[in-house]
Amino acid sequence: SVRVRFAPSPTGLLHIGGLRTALYNYLFAKGHRDGVFVLRIEDTDQARYVEGAENDIVESLEWAGLNVDEGPGKGGEFGPYRQSERKERYEQYAEQLVEQGHAYYAFDTPVELEDMRERLKKSGNPSPKYDAITRMSMKNSLTLPREEVDRILEEGEEYVIRLKVPRRETIRFEDEIRGFVSFESKGLDDQVLLKSDGMPTYHLANVVDDHLMEITDVIRGEEWLSSAPKHILMYEYFGWEPPRMAHLPLIMSPSGGKLSKRKAESEGIPINTRDYIEQEFEPEALVNFLAYLGWSPGDDSELHTMDELIELFALDRVSKGGAVFDYKKLIWYNEHYLREKPAEQLYPRVKAIAEEHGLSPDEAYLKEIIPLMKDRVSKIEDFVTMGRFFFEDPEEYEEQALKKWKDNSAELLGAYVGKLKEMDEEEFEAGKLKDKIKEVIGEYDVGFGPLMMPLRVAVSGMGYGPDLTPTIELLGKETTIRRIETAIK
Ligand code: GLU
Repeated sequence: SVRVRFAPSPTGLLHIGGLRTALYNYLFAKGHRDGVFVLRIEDTDQARYVEGAENDIVESLEWAGLNVDEGPGKGGEFGPYRQSERKERYEQYAEQLVEQGHAYYAFDTPVELEDMRERLKKSGNPSPKYDAITRMSMKNSLTLPREEVDRILEEGEEYVIRLKVPRRETIRFEDEIRGFVSFESKGLDDQVLLKSDGMPTYHLANVVDDHLMEITDVIRGEEWLSSAPKHILMYEYFGWEPPRMAHLPLIMSPSGGKLSKRKAESEGIPINTRDYIEQEFEPEALVNFLAYLGWSPGDDSELHTMDELIELFALDRVSKGGAVFDYKKLIWYNEHYLREKPAEQLYPRVKAIAEEHGLSPDEAYLKEIIPLMKDRVSKIEDFVTMGRFFFEDPEEYEEQALKKWKDNSAELLGAYVGKLKEMDEEEFEAGKLKDKIKEVIGEYDVGFGPLMMPLRVAVSGMGYGPDLTPTIELLGKETTIRRIETAIK
């Protein structure tokens, strides 16, 4: 069976692109009998480590319903699952490659490396590399005499271990999404595998752990495709069978180009999973949306539960080209899943949001507002923001709404309010309220719009909202009359 891993580096809040990668891994694993979904924290780069990031990752996966089978805090027979806790293992494998002649010690100082790059740039090389050619003029165990190398190592001077990338070789492998891909080794640098502080780089730790954790399929973002040839070389040198690989398409901004943090911000797209949690998006909506961000089942269906997605998902239907992040589509999904939830289930959440907004609504009243507003809201908080008028008289009228206020509006509303005053409390219900509207427009010989539109503005302050007469019924006689009279004054 299959074993996959989601292997984030805890360098900040979990990006939605990362959540998509996790989702595809999860769907792939669960779509196979006994498939295992591993969470591995790649925290070997101490300079980029961010406190709390791991916790954010774990909580985000849980929120989205991506249950981890093995991982930190969860355990499993291949642990520990935090790379910082596996440090000793990597060194030994790097040394093994040195012994086999596939890696070497390098002693160059940062200044020497910089000089080399400067020199090459000046002589017209736009992307200088530490490679089969340049390594010959640098300080490493391939160029220095053996005794000198032994002396340096004995004296405990700093060194790194670099991969000895062959000068001319074509590296090919089959990507599950892209088909055969090939790279020329002359385009690769002699990747540092072990840093001078004894920590592995991503490349070494990633390959060693994928092997030790018996990962069968590596599913990750396209930005890692260029690292794959280095990994393939390492698998070959270790004599290990490489996992199958699948590189997911980039997530693009609607205005073109990769959806970077900055771009997302300027286009009003929340970029971190945490944003969606805080804004209380429906997790089912984000999951369904992300599943379709680069994949589709090949028909025109759009709405699927997690179980259905597991059933349908297949790597060969993942697209090669970039996937455009359509925020409006995400909102559409959110509306769908909100509508699908029974009012009972939404009630405690809406109540909490109302309280955050300083309101303390009556339970029975709030439970009537929810079904009335359900078809109008995009996000759960709209129940309270768009629905604010249910709790308080509008303090001002939306500019858009005021455009609907016409010369005869006050007169029509005046006639309507006159009829409301004659109604008994128990008569005050949607059907009757509608009849009264019909009476007024009959008397004045106008259509529904000229009365309904200013009426909505008067009671809610807005030009758009839930069904009008049930809304008025809920607001009640006294409130409705007061608001209309205020508006026509
Ligand atoms: N640690 C890498 C990341 O942050 C993992 C890439 C991979 O899956 O190999 O995305």
